[in-house]
Amino acid sequence: SMDANGGSKKDFSTAILERKKAPNRLLADDGEGSVVPDNSTVAITTAAMEQLGIYVGDLVLLRGKRRRETVCYVLPDDSCPEGRVRVSRGVRANLRVKLGDVVTVNRRLDVPNGTRVQVTPFEDSMDGISGDLFEAYLKPYFREYLRPLCKGDTFMVRGNMRAVEFKVVATEPADCVLVAQDTTIFCDSGKPVKREDEERLDGPGYDDVGGVRKQLAQIRELVELPLRHPKLFQTLGVKPPKGILLYGPPGTGKTLLARAIASESGAHFVVVNGPEIMSKMAGESEENLRKVFEDAEKLAPSIIFMDEIDAIAPNRDKTHGEVERRVVSQLLTLMDGLRPRAQVVVIGATNRPNSLDPALRRFGRFDRELDIGVPDEVGRLEILRIHSKDMPLADDADLERICKDTHGFVGADLAALCSEAAFQLIREKMDVIDVEEETIDVDVLNSLRVCNDHLKHAMEV
Ligand code: ADP
Repeated sequence: SMDANGGSKKDFSTAILERKKAPNRLLADDGEGSVVPDNSTVAITTAAMEQLGIYVGDLVLLRGKRRRETVCYVLPDDSCPEGRVRVSRGVRANLRVKLGDVVTVNRRLDVPNGTRVQVTPFEDSMDGISGDLFEAYLKPYFREYLRPLCKGDTFMVRGNMRAVEFKVVATEPADCVLVAQDTTIFCDSGKPVKREDEERLDGPGYDDVGGVRKQLAQIRELVELPLRHPKLFQTLGVKPPKGILLYGPPGTGKTLLARAIASESGAHFVVVNGPEIMSKMAGESEENLRKVFEDAEKLAPSIIFMDEIDAIAPNRDKTHGEVERRVVSQLLTLMDGLRPRAQVVVIGATNRPNSLDPALRRFGRFDRELDIGVPDEVGRLEILRIHSKDMPLADDADLERICKDTHGFVGADLAALCSEAAFQLIREKMDVIDVEEETIDVDVLNSLRVCNDHLKHAMEV
């Protein structure tokens, strides 16, 4: 006899789960892994490359939402999950896709060398700088390799103490070209372009959060899928978590993490500050809280972030305040009232999980807890790299050394250290920076290097 899961029956029952979609439809994943894709590359597994007949270094046409297309090189990355394509945030923005959305990948052979491309910086990314963007940003960027550019794309170039984002206004002789040595690049920095809403790389991404890899993976699993596919959970009869509690000292990135989840999954983000909401007049706190939940449901998918939630919901046995008692019960009512399909997740943050009202930590409320601790040495290095992304570091700048010497520093401390190092550098260069000018010339920015002394100085402040 055959058991229920055995033999041909199994083949039949799982056939529908096999990927019936075309193999070139892959789900967008982020850039983590051995190959970190940039503006001009994407990565898939070698198996997927074989299946699609794509070779290392081939160009592919990527198609996303709203008929957006762009061209990138393909690199092999076997740490990429099956059925996924690793795409940087910039390329996702060009394709108008979020993580988990379908991207169609097709080999593309006929991309001509460009005779002429015209790019223009975005107005908001030009704030405070002036001068020759071509020499400072575009020339080094296009010297790296033959980059494909498509009309309508945007791309970000890092360096010179700040990243600048450009829009591709025109390309010749085709809508997608390779920028080669003999391609003429026009950059009209005199007329920076305004950004259309969908072009905004809103909020922080997962690549802006360091030292919390494990927690990030856990929280993504808990939040991303239910926010995007509530039906799936409903059909399976599984209740996605309504609430997640992040605990850890201030400045470890709890807010940043919640914001990143929201922006990467395209969810609406609302912040409720515990002490602030409690400072309201009698009755107003509850009313405000009710309004927050109501709006979140209306604008779903949403993430409600409750910072210092211990102020809102202290242990009712230990508090004598009448307001606190009422607000705790209001919060409980609101969380219990969230429909499972509401696509609203509440993320609470606290440094003192044990001072919370225990009723809040029960099943169906904040029933998942993640410890966001002080980062270790490896975590500190990740965070330092993130905050020095746009800084040109001198050869002697030793980030590894800095992270050995910063035991106990949290993310916020390391972010402050980086900007203090930059300030120190700028103080030294006051003689070449014309402080009367409203903008700083990129040539000046270009000449600045953050040295080890600046970093060491910053550590002592
Ligand atoms: P918390 O909510 O835990 O108090 P925040 O998220 O408000 O901490 O952190 C404040 C700032 O410090 C962030 O905006 C970011 O610039 C930096 N920061 C904190 N933690 C991290 C981290 N893990 N990775 C990168 N930057 C961090």
